[in-house]
Amino acid sequence: MLIGVPKEIKNHEYRIGLSPAAVREYVEHGHDVMIQRDGGVSIGFTNEDYEAAGARIVDTPEEIFAKADMIVKVKEPQPNECKMLREGQILYTYLHLAPDPEQTRLLAEAGVTAIAYETVTDNRGGLPLLAPMSEVAGRMSIQAGAHHLEKAHGGSGTLLGGVPGVAPGKVLIIGGGVVGTQAAKMAIGMGADVTILDRSLPRLRELDDIFGGRVKTVYSTVDAIELYSREADLVVGAVLIPGAAAPKLLTREHIKNMKPGSVLVDVAIDQGGCFETSKATTHQDPTYIVDDVVHYCVANMPGGVARTSTIALNNATLPHGLALANKGLAALEHDANLRNGLNMHKGYITYKAIHDDLGAKL
Ligand code: NAD
Repeated sequence: MLIGVPKEIKNHEYRIGLSPAAVREYVEHGHDVMIQRDGGVSIGFTNEDYEAAGARIVDTPEEIFAKADMIVKVKEPQPNECKMLREGQILYTYLHLAPDPEQTRLLAEAGVTAIAYETVTDNRGGLPLLAPMSEVAGRMSIQAGAHHLEKAHGGSGTLLGGVPGVAPGKVLIIGGGVVGTQAAKMAIGMGADVTILDRSLPRLRELDDIFGGRVKTVYSTVDAIELYSREADLVVGAVLIPGAAAPKLLTREHIKNMKPGSVLVDVAIDQGGCFETSKATTHQDPTYIVDDVVHYCVANMPGGVARTSTIALNNATLPHGLALANKGLAALEHDANLRNGLNMHKGYITYKAIHDDLGAKL
């Protein structure tokens, strides 16, 4: 199969659909790969790296979209890219169609077969192509929080790990899923005093087993949020209610009672945020202050570490991508988890939740 990888064109998107190592895997399986010139150069993947992996460097996205049997990307296609897609071609990327009727209409017009990373499942009902980005965001949340606790960045001047003779900073993580677990790992590694709140008792048991006595696990109630946020130096918002906007767990009142210069990192901002005062920010201008509390609410945190994120994403997308390249659409017949990724085919929406949301609006 001929695989095409255009350079991402969404604002400040530096990730790329295939890393050189992933290209090599496709080539080893007998496929041809076209990469747009300089597609990965901003994250250190040079044209020479891609050529060494066996790819052909192509100058324009037009050539890639016109010739490739499968397009592998990171972000949803932008309108001019949608217009270059066509029936009989496979698009393999993040799509997030439900809130985006315009993109859905353009993909329907193109007739392309679109497989969305975010709806591919695994045997345990998880979302394995979303998980790596949650892992990245979870680990980054502590790094970002620690940075903004410094005086020069608006914080209280607290070192999360403390030093011998000085108590460590207190980290409160609300939501103990993928993001929360990775955040806890980083916070423990820094020597912070860590508490995780979750609504799921089975999850709290797992966390207790994973971390032993190194974190406190607490059932998430209004009382617990009020108590632990008052003492916290850093609060990480990491809740998810699948398919719903994030609940506003930390209210303006709670935030008023926090210590001046403490920091909030709302990772759940891509679902609307779980703090009442959260509003989305960017890597260029990541924070703002409300009631003396620093708010970090970057909606695409993994984009800030685009090199790590590209490699992590490729690790997760490669097996299904290879199956599609090897077997074409027959790969969907053999794998119900991959089939769950099918969102559009020949002008039809093929994913029930998206059809229920958008069907009538197209
Ligand atoms: P997850 O499903 O693995 O974990 C969510 C956890 O929240 C679950 O353990 C659930 O029990 C818990 N929860 C639900 N309601 C709660 C409540 N009231 N109190 C405490 N815990 C509660 O989800 P995840 O992959 O960890 O993602 C968390 C959030 O991070 C999501 O909103 C996701 O979209 C977001 N995210 C953001 C970025 C970014 O760049 N900002 C990147 C990746 C993920």
